[in-house]
Amino acid sequence: MNAYLSPLHALEAGRWFKLICGASFQHLPAVRNLALAYSLAGADCVDVAADPAAIAAAHSGLEAAQVLGAGKRLPWLMASLNDGEDPHFRKAEFDPEHCPPDCPRPCAVICPAAAIPRDRPGGVEAARCYGCGRCLPVCPLQLIRSRSYTTAPAAIAPLLRDSPLDALEIHTHIGNLAGFRRLWAAIAPGVSA
Ligand code: SF4
Ligand code: SF4
Repeated sequence: MNAYLSPLHALEAGRWFKLICGASFQHLPAVRNLALAYSLAGADCVDVAADPAAIAAAHSGLEAAQVLGAGKRLPWLMASLNDGEDPHFRKAEFDPEHCPPDCPRPCAVICPAAAIPRDRPGGVEAARCYGCGRCLPVCPLQLIRSRSYTTAPAAIAPLLRDSPLDALEIHTHIGNLAGFRRLWAAIAPGVSA
């Protein structure tokens, strides 16, 4: 591989081009297709949810890109983790049973991920929701909630052992050293520099 074309060199040179699929986005066909398209477009990194199925879908896209790109160098495959509350790690949810039948469904209209059906009753399709939060304020009945989640440290070790990952992104924040240490203790054995 030409070092000047490597993802690491791009990072060091400040011309890093990363696809962020979304730390919460788990729509597998879309993850695969995005990984494929951005790989062919020359992305340095494909960043997906720390979910074995999402990682496998992205890896499948990279493999297809390798074939179609005839040896073109591939982006790193990265997974995003969090060690506590983080707006990237959340999903919207509501109970569609509580929606009036004549609601014009502004939540569905505004959703950029088509995670809420427009033309039929139904709630949030969790795999598509990447937690952008756009739908929350538009519900006239304030039925939509945001559900945050934190990466479970115990689930990470097998993920690192079994997945074709090149890099991790850890979302942390000031004041959460204990949470960071817990996560790092779980992943450090599987991380190589
Ligand atoms: S608009 Fe709501 S349902 Fe759609 S992706 Fe954003 S948070 Fe999820
Ligand atoms: S805007 Fe509120 S009431 Fe209307 S469909 Fe969406 S969640 Fe239901």
